[in-house]
Amino acid sequence: SIPLGFFGGIGGSSKAGILVKGGNYLEALTGVDTIVFDKTGTITKGTFKVTEIISYGEYSKEEILELAAYGESHSNHPIGKSILEAYNKEINKEYIKSYKEIAGKGIEVSIDGKEIILGNKKIFDEKGIKVKESDSIGTVVYIGKSNKHIGTIIVSDELKDNVVEDIKKLKSLGIKRTIMLSGDNESTAEKVGELVGLNKVYGNLLPQDKVNKFEDIVRDSKGKVVFVGDGVNDAPVLARADVGIAMGGLGSDAAIEASDIVIMTDEVGKIATGIKIARNTKKIVT
Ligand code: ADP
Ligand code: MG
Repeated sequence: SIPLGFFGGIGGSSKAGILVKGGNYLEALTGVDTIVFDKTGTITKGTFKVTEIISYGEYSKEEILELAAYGESHSNHPIGKSILEAYNKEINKEYIKSYKEIAGKGIEVSIDGKEIILGNKKIFDEKGIKVKESDSIGTVVYIGKSNKHIGTIIVSDELKDNVVEDIKKLKSLGIKRTIMLSGDNESTAEKVGELVGLNKVYGNLLPQDKVNKFEDIVRDSKGKVVFVGDGVNDAPVLARADVGIAMGGLGSDAAIEASDIVIMTDEVGKIATGIKIARNTKKIVT
């Protein structure tokens, strides 16, 4: 039966900037023991800055940045936007042909007749192109031209304000496990998890890997499992979760649509607020 009483909690939630798409999701929130987070745009601000440009000699750093900016000029990914911002010049889109963005990996594109690829190691492995790996802290964008790795751009993101406190709040509410699933490299994911105080972190995940890992987590869980995300690549997991929570400001339309609850202010702290409202509503209902 539909727990009609929980509809009463929806009004209170929306005043707090939390849009709940049905009373049943508030009820589910009262039984949560595991919360799974995406990284970029969920735990971190999702606004990257270029912090380092590495050239391997053949091209100048300016040329590396220019190629990357041309490659990213059709991208809506936060990484692409940061590269375009660092370049900060007009792009002549006539040079850009056969553009292809591969979720969780990067971009393949023809620029002025040259085959350019940019992204993480996965896309280079697929093409059989060797990369000189970078141990810089941050998200690494390798740039390849005509089947050769010519340079690397490091972009860095920041933690959201108050996110460390917000995770503590969830733990103090009795949430047993806080877990992060990220498409970013393992070392960056690990570092973010440590800074924020999450129980467990998985990096290097393709969109499908995120779904599989989430299924494993659900299987290991005694209570309800929440997923919190913002990206197009998070939509399948948001749909699969007992309660899918999307970021309303940063979030993609696909994520918002697939979710059960939308946090209008993008604050992780609103999850604790939502759980408290759900618990109070339950006391009144039962
Ligand atoms: P997350 O799960 O952390 O939100 P995504 O799945 O969106 O991340 O991306 C995972 C990884 O794929 C990025 O860290 C990056 O290495 C690579 N990638 C995806 N899109 C792009 C792009 N437009 N340019 C460069 N790299 C990209
Ligand atoms: Mg994200």
